[in-house]
Amino acid sequence: MTQHPTHHAGHQPEQPSGRSRAGLRLMHVHAHPDDESSKGAASTAMYVAQGVDVHVATCTGGERGSILNPKMERPDILANISEIRRQEMERARDILGIRQDWLGFVDSGWPEGDPKPPLPEGCFALVPLEEAIVPLVRLIRQFRPHVMTTYDERGGYPHPDHVKCHEVSVAAFEAAADPERFPELGEPWQVLKLYYHHSFNRPRMTAIHEAMLEHGLESPYAERLKEWVPEPEWDARITTRVPCADYFGVRDQALLAHATQIDPDGFWFAVPHEIQQKVWPTEDFELVVSHVDSPTPEDDLFAGITDPT
Ligand SMILES: [Zn+2]
Repeated sequence: MTQHPTHHAGHQPEQPSGRSRAGLRLMHVHAHPDDESSKGAASTAMYVAQGVDVHVATCTGGERGSILNPKMERPDILANISEIRRQEMERARDILGIRQDWLGFVDSGWPEGDPKPPLPEGCFALVPLEEAIVPLVRLIRQFRPHVMTTYDERGGYPHPDHVKCHEVSVAAFEAAADPERFPELGEPWQVLKLYYHHSFNRPRMTAIHEAMLEHGLESPYAERLKEWVPEPEWDARITTRVPCADYFGVRDQALLAHATQIDPDGFWFAVPHEIQQKVWPTEDFELVVSHVDSPTPEDDLFAGITDPT
């Protein structure tokens, strides 16, 4: 495991409230480099600006990610994709002002074809759970986060590494607190709250789509919405909406740092900030486990956490 202990102050605007959350620690577990910038990145930047220590654990190196930006589809980049994705992650880390660690697993890739091909030998999705949770349990016990986030049981989207990231996070959340398990990995630590990301929800996409049309703009979501079957019960799982619209610009800069993965002319940037900020100024989460008194709905991942140690 490579350590990146640097912690940057970032370039975020000051919080108008001026409230300091120093002493609070937040850990996001993500499957690939770029996921930390596409899921929950604006709330990450906001919490960093408030003084929260934010740590991202990245399960894989993203070495099987396809190049999704046509301008980066070049042989020299393809030949060095692992190193380039590490450098992209370093830039995103500095922009967000986070610490970040690689858990050291190998990207499983997106299985294409019908039937789908078998997963590549040795990839993250094939590592037995008991083995796969070891580096994360160690990191949780070192960093001692008060709050952890990961993906829902579907992975947010059905990439095998995202589903595995969910399984590993939930199992490590439990195991890190259990003194009977992995005593060699450090003192047990009980993370107080566990969340799933829910920012790619259908009501949000619908609201932004409609606002784009009202403004006479072309919506980037028309096709997706046509195929996306409504699931009101799934959407009702959202418990927590974090207002973080002032940080959408930082989120976009972090995304752009992942130049091989993010097309600057693509759908990520097709919606003007004014529309996003007006129509859907939050990032959305589901509180799954809480060891503190934190009634929902809530608007803060740290709600109910007083006097952190
Ligand atoms: Zn991913």
